[in-house]
Amino acid sequence: MSEKQKQVELPVKEKEPYFTAKTTKKKSRLMKCTYNECVNTFVAFPHARFCEYHKDPSTRPKEKVVEENTMFKFPHKFSGRITIERACNCCGKPYQIEIYPEREDYPCYCKDHQNEWKRKHWRMTHGEK
Ligand SMILES: [Zn+2]
Ligand SMILES: [Zn+2]
Repeated sequence: MSEKQKQVELPVKEKEPYFTAKTTKKKSRLMKCTYNECVNTFVAFPHARFCEYHKDPSTRPKEKVVEENTMFKFPHKFSGRITIERACNCCGKPYQIEIYPEREDYPCYCKDHQNEWKRKHWRMTHGEK
């Protein structure tokens, strides 16, 4: 009796190549939509993030990009062009701006920091947000 049992061999599984083994592992499963307060669930591959409805980008309101105000108001009554000096809002370094008649908006950053990326970089390297 035991002899017969011994003869039963388990079928040898052929080893799958690594890449197919990896892809077949990714089975669809029940997911929760990651969009804000959406409670929808959906069946998809694990990398999916949004439910059927939010999968379409047009149904997801765009995140508002808050544009930093890079200008400041400088009301004046000068009739000619003059140059004033002020401190950069980012690095505090003094820089010069030309004041024009009938113009009130002027950059509040020095030439180095009129670029948003450079301001970010400066704040990062100086431990500010
Ligand atoms: Zn959703
Ligand atoms: Zn600056």
